[in-house]
Formats: sequence, structure tokens, C-alpha cells
Amino acid sequence: MCVFCKIVAKEIPADVVFESIDVLAFNDINPEAPTHVLVIPKWHYENAADLAASAPTTLAELFTVADQIAKERELDGYRLTFNTGESAGQSVFHAHLHILGGRPFAWPPG
Ligand code: 5GP
Ligand code: ZN
Repeated sequence: MCVFCKIVAKEIPADVVFESIDVLAFNDINPEAPTHVLVIPKWHYENAADLAASAPTTLAELFTVADQIAKERELDGYRLTFNTGESAGQSVFHAHLHILGGRPFAWPPG
């Protein structure tokens, strides 16, 4: 079982900020910004493209949950990222949407 499936199964703890039938959101263990939340499907998909192909409604929910969390925190802007593949920085191969906020961000990202 992958690390995020273990979090869904409550086999390892996480600081959960939102939960629905299909989606879980929790604070990143190694935050890169004052807000750094990961929004994930509870079912295992390797990346965003697999999630889009198999469960597009859940993919859409990740974005609406992200916006809801940003509004609750009154973020004046936020960055959403799906890293896909090792060279793009993906280290956990269970689809997850990063919400980053609470500080300015450079463009393009490093
Ligand atoms: P990726 O590099 O795959 O885009 O993002 C994986 C993210 O998961 C990283 O930002 C990393 O800090 C976070 N992460 C890895 N393991 C855990 C964990 O056990 N708990 C939590 N809360 N975050 C984790
Ligand atoms: Zn998984």
C-alpha cells in the first residue's frame, strides 16, 4: 500500500483539514509555504492523468476543495500543482494536488 493509501486507511497519521466520500486533504509534512495542503483522491491513481481518465468528477472535486480551503484561509492567491513523473518532482505516486499559499511565488518555478 502506498503512503497516501495508508493515510486514507488511517494506518499512518496526518493532519487532516477536509474529508468527503471521495477526497481527503491534509497538511504536507514538509511545508514549502505557510499553506501547503495536499488534496488527494481516496482511491489510488498514479497521477493526475490517470485520475482524469478514470474519475473526472473526483478530479474536479480536488479543485473545488482547494478553492474552498483557500477561501476559508482568506488566501489572496494560491498555486495548484500536480507534479507528474520523477523529473517533474513527483515522489509519491498517488495523485495529489498541492495547494501552496500565504507567500509570493516566483514564475517560472524552479
Ligand atoms: P510530490 O513530490 O510527489 O509532488 O509530493 C509529495 C509530497 O508529499 C511532498 O511535498 C512531501 O512532503 C509529502 N509527503 C510525503 N510523505 C508524507 C507523509 O507521510 N505525510 C504527509 N502529510 N505528507 C507527506
Ligand atoms: Zn495510494
